[in-house]
Amino acid sequence: KLREFYRDTWAEVNLNAIEENVQAIKKSLPDGVAYMAVVKANAYGHGAVDVARSALKAGASYLGVAILDEALALRQAGIEAPILVLGYVRPADAALAKKYNITLTVFQKDWVKDALPHLEEGNGKLNLHLKIDTGMGRIGFRTEDEGRELLGFLRHNSSLFEVEGAYTHFATADEKGRSYIDEQHRTFEQFLGWMKAELKTAPPCIHSGNSATALRYKEYSYNMVRVGISMYGLAPSEEVKEEIEVPLKEAFSLHSRVTHCKKLSEGDGVSYGATYRAEKEEWVATIPIGYADGWIRANANGGEVLVNGRRAPIIGRICMDQLMIAVHENVPVGTKVTLIGSQGAETVSADEVARRLGTINYEIPCMISYRVPRAIY
Ligand code: PLP
Repeated sequence: KLREFYRDTWAEVNLNAIEENVQAIKKSLPDGVAYMAVVKANAYGHGAVDVARSALKAGASYLGVAILDEALALRQAGIEAPILVLGYVRPADAALAKKYNITLTVFQKDWVKDALPHLEEGNGKLNLHLKIDTGMGRIGFRTEDEGRELLGFLRHNSSLFEVEGAYTHFATADEKGRSYIDEQHRTFEQFLGWMKAELKTAPPCIHSGNSATALRYKEYSYNMVRVGISMYGLAPSEEVKEEIEVPLKEAFSLHSRVTHCKKLSEGDGVSYGATYRAEKEEWVATIPIGYADGWIRANANGGEVLVNGRRAPIIGRICMDQLMIAVHENVPVGTKVTLIGSQGAETVSADEVARRLGTINYEIPCMISYRVPRAIY
């Protein structure tokens, strides 16, 4: 029987860290606030099934994904917890969602109309959360008229649909200024006000908070938060990183092993274009990870990795499957190399990689490709 993988490049996902992060975030919230673990995009690259199980064990009660396929994959893996699809699902797939007890986000009357012919009476209702766009400008209805029309239509077909929740998404919760989020919150309150009047009671599940909101604006938690990035141990932004008081442990690390080490002479070139030239005799080691693994070429611009607890610069261009680093001495084949994570006292954080690439930490574990096995510990 073949093993799952043979290559010496892997990501480690520390599920204990994820559990501790869920518990710490949950503990910091007002009593009774439920925790939705956002595990879209393969749990931000960490492995959706394992992360979902750990988060549920640690106190999460809902899972959030972006697309129906992700929800179905969790069901296929035997996960029975409630799942909300945060993005758009085709109306023709409403029956599939109902069959697998997956909650959908709805924000268009026409969507409900188009879903109707696909849904049969009996054997339960399709569970829905209404999405209100209070300033994110992405999905969600914006006006009271749209909302009333949608709600009216759903109530008219109440044998098929259950409105379990209503939610919005904040655009600036991870920034210092609070005027925009306060305005979004006011708009959300107005919607909730007339919705409650219309339905006589509020839907049981009201939520607005991502990680930054859950950690910085607890008063906007309602009865559930949708936490992604901070469950993985990362701050929602550099701008507010210092403000986060809940202890977070980074769960993702990335490693490889030296496959070759050789001595260069003065003037010798390294990699495509021979853009790197040795200025004197020096050691260069080859590492089997490249841009097809998501370690994109821009990582060569000032990128460093850890070998034997010391930083080693990436030299020359990053290839599809390999890259080269400058090392202080002859390093044996098989020596561990850490691209994200710690060795001894040295750490390369996802934040450092994000800064180097001019992007946000969210993108870093997400961009490590399917070809890199995720080792769980
Ligand atoms: N809610 C929605 C609608 C989202 O799109 C996301 C992710 O972008 C989240 C919650 C989780 O956000 P975060 O990872 O910042 O906690």
